[in-house]
Amino acid sequence: MKLKICGMKYQDNIKHVATLQPDYLGFIFYEKSARNFDSESIPDIDEAIKKTGVFVDATLEFVIDKINKHNLQAVQLHGNESPEYCSTLKSEKVEIIKVFSVKDEFNFERLKPYEAVCDFFLFDTKGKHPGGNGYTFDWNLLSDYPSTKPFFLSGGIGLEEIEDIKQFTNSKASKYCYALDVNSKFEIEPGLKNIEALKAFKKNLSEVLDYKKEHVMNYNVNEKGYYGEFGGAFIPEMLYPNVEELRQNYLKVMAEPDFIKEFDQLLKDYVGRPSPLYFAKRLSEKYNTKIYLKREDLNHTGAHKINNTIGQILMAKRLGKHRIIAETGAGQHGVATATVCALMGLECIVYMGEIDIARQAPNVARMKMLGAKVVPALSGSRTLKDATNEAIRDWINNPVDTHYIIGSAIGPHPYPDMVTRFQSVISEEIKWQLKEQTGNENPDYLVACIGGGSNAAGTYYHYLHEPEVGIIAVEAAGLGVDSGESAATSVLGKEGIIHGCKTLLMQTKDGQITEPYSISAGLDYPGVGPMHAHLAKTGRAEFMAITDDDAMNAGLELCKLEGIIPAIESSHALAIFEQRKFKPNDVVVVSLSGRGDKDLNNYIEYFKI
Ligand SMILES: *Cc1c(COP(=O)(O)O)cnc(C)c1O
Repeated sequence: MKLKICGMKYQDNIKHVATLQPDYLGFIFYEKSARNFDSESIPDIDEAIKKTGVFVDATLEFVIDKINKHNLQAVQLHGNESPEYCSTLKSEKVEIIKVFSVKDEFNFERLKPYEAVCDFFLFDTKGKHPGGNGYTFDWNLLSDYPSTKPFFLSGGIGLEEIEDIKQFTNSKASKYCYALDVNSKFEIEPGLKNIEALKAFKKNLSEVLDYKKEHVMNYNVNEKGYYGEFGGAFIPEMLYPNVEELRQNYLKVMAEPDFIKEFDQLLKDYVGRPSPLYFAKRLSEKYNTKIYLKREDLNHTGAHKINNTIGQILMAKRLGKHRIIAETGAGQHGVATATVCALMGLECIVYMGEIDIARQAPNVARMKMLGAKVVPALSGSRTLKDATNEAIRDWINNPVDTHYIIGSAIGPHPYPDMVTRFQSVISEEIKWQLKEQTGNENPDYLVACIGGGSNAAGTYYHYLHEPEVGIIAVEAAGLGVDSGESAATSVLGKEGIIHGCKTLLMQTKDGQITEPYSISAGLDYPGVGPMHAHLAKTGRAEFMAITDDDAMNAGLELCKLEGIIPAIESSHALAIFEQRKFKPNDVVVVSLSGRGDKDLNNYIEYFKI
């Protein structure tokens, strides 16, 4: 667990406390507080300590001024700040900690509107003044905590609470407890901290404070756009205004009640959500485990991709854009984009490599029928990467009226996070569907195939911080990982920059991107989204590679056993049951990302049907 020491006021005392290496130091900017920080500047302290500004219903101008003046890395909001207020501050690249005061009970419904716009919650004791009251509340109330968002525990924590804290950390209520926040119980006078008492506290709790540091890993994007060391926004300067406009607005827009309503409505009435969670009985019998299929194949247009394009077209409209561009390889994302543009009556231009246009005639025809203009990319290898270059060139030339819809959890920040959030409806549904069917919202394993990683990110999202839920990511091995014809990025890839983000990608010794290969067009991508690079690096997810042959056979098997023709991408996820044993009582949820209609020719050729 992390430690935050709050209510710092005096220069020498600040320097002294900083030598104890807390994770956060809090400075209160609130005139009515006895600990109001009114010095001109904060002394130089170790950069690893996050300087946190504490505010109570301050104006945004005031908060932003303090962020810039004191180079704050986090803000803690103690008043009645709205979700919109929080999301505006989020674009200042600071962590947002929203405070809720607890007395004898707490209505957890209050947290919901803040889920998307805060990094942490902080639970404090309700008292006369905001914060610093010196009393604890009944921490057992937190055993009903319905969220997976990490929180700070605050309110009256002192040396006498050490035993209680130890007990608390062994209880269910502490599962998402990220940090302890201390203040008035360690003071000689308001704002002046007692160094010896703090030292004793740290020493007595060293096990608790160090132990969870490793365990509460953050698998979500941080305020700078990174997942661990991966992510970021590596873009040409000419593209900066476009990406920056999106970064500043995406969370704010996504938190607007109007936006949420329209998004949910379209997912329901147009896409056909919720997609069923289907217990595959015969498949389960064959592999002697419990297999559930999340049926994204039943969505309108036949795959999960529409969840993202619906979200992004609504975003584009809110940002006043009336021209949409996209890149596509196999054409699936092009079709999903053309579909939503038709739905909204917006102009749609899809860039596609000349070679891909020839290979994917049915999807090209679909896009044209839906009113999109398909522009061939004639440079380079005339495939996906060249189409992406053309799309970026277009965006640079049309910064004001155009939105670029990226089709997977890749690209410069904020794209991976935005796409992931739109796709997270998948795991949101799995949670209640599984609870309904099995009585437990957590499966033992989640399985998804990975191209760029959007169906996987959506399938994992609400389970990332549930350590007992195993995560399995399935990549395309093509003709074999060592064959030279593969797309298994987590094995073959090295750190590098592709499509504006730092991630794992397949490259030559001099850093040129190598052409990937897979029988499945959707997995034929040389990189992997930055979230997945982080999941691979930290070991949170188990990565498996499946060959063309194994995937094709698993696809045919699903046809015969369950009467479902899967997309070849999804067949890769299904193929793991031949390679990896599960226990009879394990609940394994597989993302069936798409249907196989588009792959019929491939199946026909392969099986000589
Ligand atoms: C595009 C596609 C994929 C791969 O894309 P991700 O972003 O990795 O999800 C997987 N399955 C289907 C059916 C697809 O169309």
